[in-house]
Amino acid sequence: MKVIKNGIVFKDGRWLKDVDVLVDGNIIKDLLDGADNVDAEVIDANGGFVCPGFINLHIHGAMGYDVMDGTEDAIKEIAKFSAEHGTTSFLPTTTTGSIGRTRKSLEMIKNVMKGKYEGAQILGVHLEGPFINREYKGAQMEEHIQRPSIDNYLNLTHGFEDIVKHITVAPEVEGAEELIKYLKDKGITVSMGHTGADYDTCMKAFEWGVSHVTHCYNGMVSLHHRNPGVIGAAFDREGITVELITDLIHIHPAMLRLAIKAKGAGGTAIVTDSMAATGLGDGQYLLGEKQVWVKDGIARIEEGNLAGSTLTHDGALRNIVDIGMSLEDGITMLSTTPAKVIGVDDHKGNIEKGYDADIVILDRDLKVDKVLVQGDLI
Ligand SMILES: [Zn+2]
Repeated sequence: MKVIKNGIVFKDGRWLKDVDVLVDGNIIKDLLDGADNVDAEVIDANGGFVCPGFINLHIHGAMGYDVMDGTEDAIKEIAKFSAEHGTTSFLPTTTTGSIGRTRKSLEMIKNVMKGKYEGAQILGVHLEGPFINREYKGAQMEEHIQRPSIDNYLNLTHGFEDIVKHITVAPEVEGAEELIKYLKDKGITVSMGHTGADYDTCMKAFEWGVSHVTHCYNGMVSLHHRNPGVIGAAFDREGITVELITDLIHIHPAMLRLAIKAKGAGGTAIVTDSMAATGLGDGQYLLGEKQVWVKDGIARIEEGNLAGSTLTHDGALRNIVDIGMSLEDGITMLSTTPAKVIGVDDHKGNIEKGYDADIVILDRDLKVDKVLVQGDLI
């Protein structure tokens, strides 16, 4: 057993003082006021913040590795790097690529999930594409975009359907309705992204089963007072969650605050959408199969479009606090809400008795001090 002492504990969006967190195996066994008589290894939080581990729904790479590399090493290194930055679980995210390459990635992720690995826990895959709108492809490869259909989906994922947790689709493309309904039925979170859908199409898509918006504001029609599009539809519709990249490059701080006002911290998930350059310096990299140039930490393809970020998850939290959000809301958006988006909020995203022992301890400067993944100190 382990006991975390001398910290301020995040529970249900608030801070608890003078509470110790008792960890037994991979589970939070109890929250106690003074666990002095318990026989357990003491983890000193040094007066810092004891938070539920961050959950990253959208990450392509780090440290020179990309999910689409098609190697187990890539997946393992991304898991390790994520944990060093406070992420305790994540969805390795594919980009729109060839069927062969995507399937190779899925195979590697499944292999890693089955075995032992260090770092953040892999909860499944986020497929970003290939069922997106060409007009809003961003840095996704146009030649590999496919028409949405159940057949095309199964052709891409057969043998690996069990690890698909989340998918980004454009609901306005012909065939999307049938596919969205099918995926929703399978328990996969369907997110709108790389889409030109108008407000009315979004409202229909919500009925079909879309419940989330991939990197809200980016890769979609801009918010316009006569044409609210995906952004207006998501803000307007209760229960729809949105994802934000908080590198302060993809979205102006005012628009981040606006989104959070509209959706609340409980309706907003902060992601990194980070690529291979994350953790390294400027230079030339690949995002999936696409050449990307990183300058001053900003990743772009040749045409100039942004190509993911070089943001870390703890950096994302510090940015959101810097622009005026409360730390409680920040933690909610990095942990509690993403857990809800993919339906794991009954055991992740909170410091609560019976929950997974996925815990990040932050110091007073919001830097990562210690991380526990499934009860193991990383
Ligand atoms: Zn992405």
